[in-house]
Amino acid sequence: METMLLKGAVVRDTVFAELREQVVAAPRPPGLAVVLVGDDPASQIYVGHKEKGCETVGFHHVTHRLPTDTTEEDLLALITALNRDPAIDGILIQLPLPVGIDQSLILRTVDPRKDVDGFHPENLGLLVAGTPSFVPCTPKGILRLLTHYEIPVAHQRVTIVGRSVIVGRPLALLLSLKRAVGNATVTVCHSGTTDLAAETRRADIVVAAMGAARFLGPDHLSAGTTVIDVGINRVEAPERKRGYRLVGDVDAEAVKGHVAALTPVPGGIGPMTIAMLLENTFEAMARREGLA
Ligand code: NAP
Repeated sequence: METMLLKGAVVRDTVFAELREQVVAAPRPPGLAVVLVGDDPASQIYVGHKEKGCETVGFHHVTHRLPTDTTEEDLLALITALNRDPAIDGILIQLPLPVGIDQSLILRTVDPRKDVDGFHPENLGLLVAGTPSFVPCTPKGILRLLTHYEIPVAHQRVTIVGRSVIVGRPLALLLSLKRAVGNATVTVCHSGTTDLAAETRRADIVVAAMGAARFLGPDHLSAGTTVIDVGINRVEAPERKRGYRLVGDVDAEAVKGHVAALTPVPGGIGPMTIAMLLENTFEAMARREGLA
């Protein structure tokens, strides 16, 4: 069986092109503030991608790079200022935050109307209630990618490996909503799951969001499954100039030719996440301007 690659980078380019057109027609460019605390190398790369995305679609953007020893008080003061800043429609706190900062307190200080990551308890609560407002970007990107490639979701069995509040949990809620791109039968697995392979093998769609390099292989996946690989893991690659390569949670080489469809890493869900962040930021601007 030939495995179809679900190329998020291609869909991202389409979303960016649509956003560029919308920005030209808008009363003002949307504004995104990114807050990065500390010097985590992966976070710095992700923030760079977000800045580049803003440039591409013509958004106003500002990045606050703060030292690792930033106090919780200083961070709260910055968020309060961004909440009040009329040029800022969306606020993104790059996670993880350094140890010692109460992440949950920081996330609930962001104005829910500017919470383009969808992590404020109000927005998560609306998702649980079945009336989502701002939806977390990675789950939203997964749904958009499945829609783009016309992969049916309704009535399908979906197994999600990972229950984080960023990916697994909101995705499970979205997929189980009674909607056109939803209405699936969802199983959520985690480190307490007794027989992971049994749960993944009986799924039509498997979403891997574990953070475990190349963990899922042919033994975990039935022939014909659609596989969404969210994982981004660094593995050593001495032959490369930078000394590492990025791989997913799925052993891509081993499952190619066995599964029906697979998202590449990199170039799959990562670009979709950024595209949905910018879409949410446009939406925040439109709501604040009374256009949506
Ligand atoms: P996380 O908070 O570390 O959560 C990982 C989840 O996977 C947990 O629920 C954990 O179970 C479960 N898990 C780990 N190993 C397992 C195993 N062997 N068997 C069963 N369950 C297992 O991770 P996250 O923030 O969701 O991120 C997951 C991965 O996605 C990471 O590689 C991250 O870099 C990547 N990511 C990518 C994007 C993107 O845009 N592409 C966005 C976000 C995250 P417990 O709850 O029991 O510990």
